[in-house]
Amino acid sequence: MLKTNEIIKKYGKPNQQGSYLTTITLPYPMRIAWDTKTKVTKMRCHRQVADDFLGVFNDLLSHYGYEKIVELGIDLFGGCFNFRQMRGGSEYSRHSWGIAIDLDPERNQLKTPYLKSNFSKPEYKKLHEIFEKHGFNNLGKTKGYDSMHWEKIE
Ligand SMILES: [Zn+2]
Repeated sequence: MLKTNEIIKKYGKPNQQGSYLTTITLPYPMRIAWDTKTKVTKMRCHRQVADDFLGVFNDLLSHYGYEKIVELGIDLFGGCFNFRQMRGGSEYSRHSWGIAIDLDPERNQLKTPYLKSNFSKPEYKKLHEIFEKHGFNNLGKTKGYDSMHWEKIE
């Protein structure tokens, strides 16, 4: 995991405007997790990780296929760029750089122990492998909570 000073060195100082962001076109639409009738086809993220996010989404699509992605709730988008401090902390959330993404927050909540979260189930094994292949890891898996959250570790 990167420390905050290492992230600043690599990705710059976080700011409200997100001057380091770019917009990527998703290979499949994602549903807004808190408004599932609304679909998005674009996502803003840090330009240095844009190719990694695209790699994740493309690999997910070729492995699971769109129908399975929806069935598993992997398309439930909980946000990427969001300039804010960590919940209960003074450090910046990794979302402030647009190098983290939340998926299916309802079934993978902040305080739910990892083994009770949806993403710990066997059908999501490949989801973890794909994110890890592109340099992201899941906070649930590594810290035991906040399983919705995937962040860049390099
Ligand atoms: Zn998150």
